[in-house]
Order: sequence, then structure tokens, then C-alpha cells
Amino acid sequence: MRSGTTPEVAEAGSLSSVEAYQSAILAAIRPLAAASLELEAAEGCVLAEDVTAAVSLPSFDNSSMDGYAVHAADVADASRESPATLRVTGEVAAGDIGSYRLVPGTAIKIMTGARLPAEADTVVPVEWTDGGAAQVEIYRPAQQGSAIRYVGGDATEGETLLTAGTRMRPMQIAVAASAGRKAVSVRPRPRVVVLSTGDELTEPGTPLVPGRIWDSNSYMIAAAAREAGAVAYRRSVVPDDPSGVLPALEEQLSSADLLITTGGVSMGGEHDVVKEALRELGTVTFRKVAMQPGMPQGFGVIGEGGARGVGAPGGAGGVGAKRAVPIFTLPGNPVSAYVSFQMFVRPAIAALQGADDLSLTSVQATLTGQVRSPSGRRSYLRGILDGAKVTPLSGQGSHQIAYLGRANALIIVPEWETQLPAGETVEVLVLP
Ligand code: AMP
Ligand code: MG
Repeated sequence: MRSGTTPEVAEAGSLSSVEAYQSAILAAIRPLAAASLELEAAEGCVLAEDVTAAVSLPSFDNSSMDGYAVHAADVADASRESPATLRVTGEVAAGDIGSYRLVPGTAIKIMTGARLPAEADTVVPVEWTDGGAAQVEIYRPAQQGSAIRYVGGDATEGETLLTAGTRMRPMQIAVAASAGRKAVSVRPRPRVVVLSTGDELTEPGTPLVPGRIWDSNSYMIAAAAREAGAVAYRRSVVPDDPSGVLPALEEQLSSADLLITTGGVSMGGEHDVVKEALRELGTVTFRKVAMQPGMPQGFGVIGEGGARGVGAPGGAGGVGAKRAVPIFTLPGNPVSAYVSFQMFVRPAIAALQGADDLSLTSVQATLTGQVRSPSGRRSYLRGILDGAKVTPLSGQGSHQIAYLGRANALIIVPEWETQLPAGETVEVLVLP
């Protein structure tokens, strides 16, 4: 990303760059303790150990097709007009652990995945034969070694198949299982609790009265955290009462690895209850970040050990350990909260798992319409990416959740640009 800013965090009052703020967050996050999890529970977790092959893969020579195990020399002259006719002396199916030996001039029927009989050097696919049971007519020569999967053709015994830091997706689960592992040491999915604050917030599904809105942030941010691999819950809305905010957060400390609030951190209203409640602790720093939307941000730690400051270990403790849980206080406007989550919380969720694989995919695209951006702040405009073109949406207000719902990308307008015309190439972040 082009940026003329330095990675230090600016003093409160001036603006932090996006990168400086991201670095400060990642520097403060400590990975969760590793735990041994059975493979069925390990999906989405991040390996804390290397996984090596207990045996070679495959561990025995076997057939890649249903057919006949033969000597290649015995079928070298086979043709449709003049088939090679071989006596079939047996049949070996997948899973058969018996010992078979091929006598020259004969064939053994063999199934996919079955162990290759000793002395056999080739498998002729059943499609090239008459499929005979007592004897078989083979219509084509087969090259020596064909349709055989040799020992170690995929991996050799002791080979490292997965390295620490790898996220366990379905393919990696299969690799671990194929390597003989029942359980793996992983950093688990972080447990994230989301709290919305605001006297105006009403639960969806209940009637709305003028002056109130339905809470969307807590549902959205919990869903986004789940999408990023966390186990996330929302807690019911917290009213704008400073004395209620801290207890509501403290209630979650024993069960959360990361706390997220939305709302109550604006630039100086007396209703900024989150800011008011957490500033007292001295372990959460409130900053203005040079971006739009999402300028007011807060991050730090709360809980036992929180007094050690922002650099204290976050959520790394096991049972009975002192817990200092990282907390993000996201702005209340839904689009601001969403963009802030993607830029700051998503990488932090990865860091809690000892990984750095959750940054949004960045592509270059051509603007189909002009865009504007405040000087000195990086804009993340909602857009629709279609191939190499990106169309900025007309509603760019940070309250415009309906427009956010139409977007699939964020268009980046750098700090030093105040407008870009159609036809310009821009960096675009693909929304997950
Ligand atoms: P605040 O940051 O608390 O000053 O809120 C900024 C704007 O975001 C206000 O218009 C709030 O009504 C709105 N807002 C705050 N929290 C939520 C929420 N959970 N869901 C939807 N809108 C919200
Ligand atoms: Mg509020």
C-alpha cells in the first residue's frame, strides 16, 4: 500500500496512520496458548507444531486403477486382433493384507488402492481387457510401471507435511489424518464477545419507536468475527451509562479472548460512555486514525494484568492464569465499525492464533466513476468490484448500512488524494 507515513504511533490528538495503528495492535497481541485438539475440532485453528509423515505416503506400492497386475513384458505385443491371454490366478481388493506373488505369464485381478502383488510391474486397466475372471484377454500393451502408485510418491517417511503457523483448513485436516495424527497442537479459535452501546439501540424483532434504531453492529461484528475464524457471541445492548459499561465488560473477561465494543467513542460527547469508562483504567488508548470511515479508535487490554499496559500479554493465560484481554472499541456508525473490524480486528484475530493470514486480498482495478476523499485521510469507499473494474457506490455515508450491503469491495483513496476521476487505477480490498 502506498503511504508516506511512518510506523510510530502518533501522540493522542494528532492522527495515527493506519499502518502505525495496525503495528501497535499487533505488537500488543500475544498468541493464545496452544492446546491439543482432535482433528474434528481443529478446523480453523492454527498449528502450533510441525506435522511430519509417520510413514511414507503411500506406504505400499498400490494400483491406481481397477484392472490386472501383470508383467509388462507379457502384454508387450497385445492388440485388439491378437490379444495377450493370461490366466488369472487371484484377486486383490483394497484393504486385503494377504501376500500375493505374480507368476510370469499370469495376471492377478486388482482394485484401486489394493497392494501391488510382488513381482508385478504394471497394472492394465480393466477397460483394456475383456474383464475375464478365470483368464483375461488384454488388448493393448501397457508401459512398465503404469497405473502404479509407488511408496513415497506423495511424501517420504519423516517428511514435514505441515509447518507451525499453518491454518487447518479441510485439506490440512486430511494431510494430518493421512500422516496418522488423531490430534494436533493448535492455537484455538479465539473467543470473541461483542457489545453494542447506545441508549438509542433496540433489539431487532421488537417494535421501534421514533428516536430509536435497531442494533445492527453487534450482529454484524460477531458475524464478521466468525467469518474470520473466531468463536463469537454478541451480548445484549449496553445502555449509555458509564457505570454500567465496565461491569458489562468485566463479566465477559473469564470467557473471552477478545472484547469488541461499538459506539460511545466519538470525539467528545458526554455520551461517549465507553471512552469515559475505559479511560479511567489507563490501559486502553484512544486515537484518531487518518482514515475515513473509522477515525475514532480505541485499543488496549482490560482485566487482570491490564495495569501492565497495552503491551501486556493478551488472553494468553490458561486456567487460573491472570487474564489481560485485548479490547477494541469500534466507532458506532455501522460502516465505520465494519471497516474498522476488517482493517484492525481481523489481523488481531489472526495474531491471537499466531498467524498473519487474514489481511484482505488487495487487487488493482479501474474506477468507473469519480471519487472524493478528505485530505490527509485514507478513504475506504464502498464499491462493487467486477473483474478489473470497480464502481463506487453513491451512498458513502458511514451510517449507510443499506449501501454497505451492496458492496463487495473497499476502494482505497490514498491520504494525499482528494479526488480521483473515472479511469484511474486504484487499490481495492476484496471483502470476505
Ligand atoms: P456513537 O459512536 O455511539 O456516537 O454512534 C454513532 C452513530 O452510530 C449513531 O448514529 C448511532 O446511533 C449509530 N450506532 C451506534 N451503535 C449502533 C449499533 N449497534 N447499531 C446501529 N447503529 C449504531
Ligand atoms: Mg452512542
